[in-house]
Amino acid sequence: MIVMKFGGTSVADGECIRGAACLVRDWMDAHDGHPPVVVVSALGGVTNSLIEAARAAAKGNGDQCRSVRLALENRHRQAIECCVVDENRGEELLRQMSGLLDWLENLCRSIHTLGELTPRGLDVVSGLGERLSARIMAATLQELGVPAEPVEATEVIVTDDKFGNAVPLTEETTSKARERLLPLLDEGTVPVVGGFAGATLGGVPTTLGRGGSDYTATILARCLEADEVWLWTDVDGVMTSDPRIVPEARTLSVVSYAEMAELSYFGAKVLHPKTIRPAVEAAIPVWVKNTFNPTHPGTLINGRGLPESGVRGITTIRDLTVITVEGRGMLGVPGVAGKVFSTVAT
Ligand code: ADP
Ligand code: ASP
Ligand code: MG
Repeated sequence: MIVMKFGGTSVADGECIRGAACLVRDWMDAHDGHPPVVVVSALGGVTNSLIEAARAAAKGNGDQCRSVRLALENRHRQAIECCVVDENRGEELLRQMSGLLDWLENLCRSIHTLGELTPRGLDVVSGLGERLSARIMAATLQELGVPAEPVEATEVIVTDDKFGNAVPLTEETTSKARERLLPLLDEGTVPVVGGFAGATLGGVPTTLGRGGSDYTATILARCLEADEVWLWTDVDGVMTSDPRIVPEARTLSVVSYAEMAELSYFGAKVLHPKTIRPAVEAAIPVWVKNTFNPTHPGTLINGRGLPESGVRGITTIRDLTVITVEGRGMLGVPGVAGKVFSTVAT
């Protein structure tokens, strides 16, 4: 069994969503119709728009939410019209989309009235994009004759209440994910799970941090004891550098878990920094592949890596500030480093 995740550019519009759905169908055709678990990000850029709308509402700009709603409605409608031919299916999907966008507008109105945006409120708004994309992807698979069902992240990912950067609760997530997803897989249906989000034990929506759909995929893989995770993105795998900055960057064919954890922690945006943790714990190989160049093998991330050592890649983190703490009384005084770190941590 595998978990396949499609990132924002891989589901940016109707044509991309159809392409992604074809990759799922092709994989099933090559594996006796066995369904993968599919995880999707929001359509590229949607999460940013949602966050901007909520922040603008809190600052007193109520109009931005209306314009964001209209833009999102347009974009998702176009995607639905491109992917879904069946009239009933299309109408049902448009109805659900309007319902979710009405709810967004109401939320923004409340934020506007209160003049305050809490981290908890922001998580409710920012997770909406994946709720829309999961529904569209499931319907697109159905159009291709593949049985599929959208699954809300809040139904399967249980987290603590660190809003904006929530930590999954392993035991609770494992039992919920298995209970919800295994029956679907057994009957040959592809579960399409919205990435990035989760919910506390009490059902309050949370998010796993920006770019968190990668993490959703490996969390689910560990819970379901999957054989592999395939992360479909817009480049040929993990590269020696960010190809947007360094055009001559090369794809690394194999990377160890430790190398990948370090690369992503230090800025390689290709993976959410925590993605590798569940994979390491369950020794699950992770492939990073290009949706727009699917015959390229991509990068394999596993426990072994390559025997060669040396520099594997170069990463950058933008907008950092370096603070230098100095003073005559510091030399050899025990506890100074501890005091500095505790001060910064609060
Ligand atoms: P997705 O939406 O599929 O999750 P992201 O935009 O989050 O995609 O991550 C893919 C992007 O990461 C690439 O388009 C690339 O610009 C950037 N990137 C940064 N560092 C690296 C790297 N070392 N290898 C590959 N891509 C990288
Ligand atoms: N849509 C979310 C984000 O933009 C999560 C993801 O794409 O992985 O951060
Ligand atoms: Mg990403």
